[in-house]
Amino acid sequence: MNDSMQKIWNKRPIIISGPCSAETEEQVLETATRLAATGKVDMLRAGIWKPRTKPGMFEGIGTKALPWMASAKKATGLPITVEVATAKHVEDALQFDVDMLWIGARTTVNPFSVQEVCDALRGVDVPVLIKNPINPDLELWCGGIERLQKVGMKDIGMIHRGFSNYGNTEFRNAPMWHLPIEMKRRFPEMLLICDPSHICGNRTGLQNVAQKSIDLDFDGLMIESHIDPDNAWSDAKQQITPERLAEMLNDLVWRFENSDKKEFLTALAKLREQINHIDDELLTLIGQRMKIADKIGTYKRENNITILQTNRWNEILAKAFVKGELLGLSKDFITKYFDAVHLESISHQNKIMND
Ligand code: PEP
Ligand code: MN
Repeated sequence: MNDSMQKIWNKRPIIISGPCSAETEEQVLETATRLAATGKVDMLRAGIWKPRTKPGMFEGIGTKALPWMASAKKATGLPITVEVATAKHVEDALQFDVDMLWIGARTTVNPFSVQEVCDALRGVDVPVLIKNPINPDLELWCGGIERLQKVGMKDIGMIHRGFSNYGNTEFRNAPMWHLPIEMKRRFPEMLLICDPSHICGNRTGLQNVAQKSIDLDFDGLMIESHIDPDNAWSDAKQQITPERLAEMLNDLVWRFENSDKKEFLTALAKLREQINHIDDELLTLIGQRMKIADKIGTYKRENNITILQTNRWNEILAKAFVKGELLGLSKDFITKYFDAVHLESISHQNKIMND
C-alpha cells in the first residue's frame, strides 16, 4: 500500500466516514470537506455500487462517481475507500487510485463473488477489508479471509456490521458481539473495525454501539455521514452529519488494551490472580457437582426413574433467581448458567443410564 495509507493502517483508532452512497459530485465533495474539517476522520468512504434488497431502489451512481471520490481526495487529502463486489468494480476502483477496498456483507456470503473479487486482486498491493456475512456464519467470514490470503493479499482487515435476523429488534443487524470476539481470537493480529451504522439502522444507537466496540478493543470505526441525512438516497435513517460525528467521537471514551502505567498493571495483575483462583475453585466445585449427579444417575437407573424431573428443576431455578438478585446477578445470566449446568448434568446421567 502507499505511504499515507500505511500510516493510517497503523493508527489507532482508524476512523472511516462518508455517505452510504455517493449521490452527486457536490455532495461527495462537501461531505469530504466537512469531514476533513473535523480533524477526526482518517478516510472517506462512499458506496458507488449499492447492493439493494429490492429492485427499483437507488443502486448507486456506478463508475461515474469514482472521479468524484478522486477529486474529494485531492481537495481534502483524505484517502478513499469504496465497496467492491465484482472483478469490474475492482478494476475500475484501482484505475482511480482508490486507497482501500471493502467487500460488503452481501458479497461475503457468496464464495463465487468473493473468489471473483480475489482473482481480480491478484498481484495488487492495496488493503482490503471484509465485512461479516449477513448471516451469523463465522466460517464464511473466515473463508473470505482465507481466499484473500490465498491470492497473496497482505493487508486484510475485518468489519463487523452485525447479522440480519427476522423480525424487529432493537438493531437493524444484531451485533452478536461474541462472534467478532471469536474472530479476534482466531485472527489476533488482524485489523478489526466496527460499523455501528449498519448495526443500528438508526442514529440514536450509534454512540452506544461505538463505545461497546471500543471497550472490546476494536481498532476503529466506519460510520456513515451525510450533509443532509434525512434526504440521503440510501440508509437515510442511520446517517449523521459530519459535525454530529465529530461530537460523537469526542464523547467516546477511548480505552486501550494495553497500558504501560506500572501501578495500574500491578493492580490489574493482582485482581486477575484473584479471578484465576476463583475460576479454579468454581471449576472444582462444578466437577464435584457432576460427581454427585453421577451418583444420582446410578440411583435413578436402579430405580427406573426418568433423568428429567421438571418440578425439581423449577425449584432449583426459582431459588437461584432469588439468591442471584441479592448478589447482583441478572436473571438472564442465572438462566444461562443453570441451563448449561443442567445440560451437562443430563449428559452425564444419560451416559450412566445407557452404558
Ligand atoms: C454499506 O456499507 O453501505 C453497505 C452496503 O453495508 P453492508 O455491506 O454492511 O450491508
Ligand atoms: Mn449503507
